[in-house]
Amino acid sequence: MALEEYRRKRDFTKSPEPKGKDLPARKAPRKALFFCVQKHLASHLHYDFRIEHNGTLLSWAVPKGPSLDPKTKRLAMHVEDHPIEYGTFEGVIPSGYGAGLVMLWDRGTWTPEVDDVDKALAKGDLKFTLEGFKLKGSWVLVRTRGYSRSRDRDRDAARGESSGDGRSWLLIKHRDDWAGDLDITQFAPLSVKSERDFPEILADDNPDIWRSNRPVEGGATGAMLRSIIEEAAKLKAARIQDLPGRRQKSKVRSKGKRPKAGK
Ligand code: MN
Repeated sequence: MALEEYRRKRDFTKSPEPKGKDLPARKAPRKALFFCVQKHLASHLHYDFRIEHNGTLLSWAVPKGPSLDPKTKRLAMHVEDHPIEYGTFEGVIPSGYGAGLVMLWDRGTWTPEVDDVDKALAKGDLKFTLEGFKLKGSWVLVRTRGYSRSRDRDRDAARGESSGDGRSWLLIKHRDDWAGDLDITQFAPLSVKSERDFPEILADDNPDIWRSNRPVEGGATGAMLRSIIEEAAKLKAARIQDLPGRRQKSKVRSKGKRPKAGK
C-alpha cells in the first residue's frame, strides 16, 4: 500500500497532518484518440469508420455511411484492424483487395465514454464522443446478433446485409446538439484532406489505370466508377493543357512552323 510508510512514520493522534484516504487505483484517463472515416469506392461504396485503440485502428465498414439522426441505425461491419498510418491515407488502390478509390471523408479525435474500451467491445456496446469536422457529439456502436442470409458474408457486408458471425454492429448517433436530420453524406461529400471529390483524387493519380479492367463493372457502382474515370481523364487532360512548360513548348514550335507568306 502506497501510504503505509507515510502512516508508519506518524502518530495522527499527535499530528495535524492528514492520514490520507485509500483511493481505488485510478482508472486510465479518458484521453482523446484519433478517428477517421474513409469513403471507399470499391466493389460497393461504403464508409470505413476507424478509431485508434492500443496502437491500431479498429475498423467498421458502414455501407450507408454515418447518420446524424438518432432514429437511423446504420449497419457497421467489424473488419480487420488497420495501421495508424492508414488513417490519413487518401488515393487510388490500383488492384487487389479493396481496389478502388479512398477519400479521407472525416478525421478528428474520439473519446471513449467508458473506462474500459476492451470490456465495452467485448460486451458489444461502446459509447464515445467524436470531435471531427463532420461528425461530432455522442455516438454508440452496438453489436447485433444479426442473421445470415447467405454464406457469402463479404458479399453480404458489401451489400449492407448483416450476418450472424458477430461482425454486425450498429452505428447510432445519440440525441444531442450534433444530432439532426441533415443527410451528412450528401451535405458534405468531399475530402477533409484535399477538399476534393473522387474524380479529382483519381486525376491526381492515373485515370487510365482501370481502362481495361475495372474493379467493378455492373450496377450503380459500376456506372458511378465509369463516370468518375471519364471525369478524371478530362480533368487530367485539362491540367496537362494548362502546364506552363507545355505552353512554352508549343510557342517555340509555332515559331519554327511560321506559315510562309502568301500561303
Ligand atoms: Mn473499405
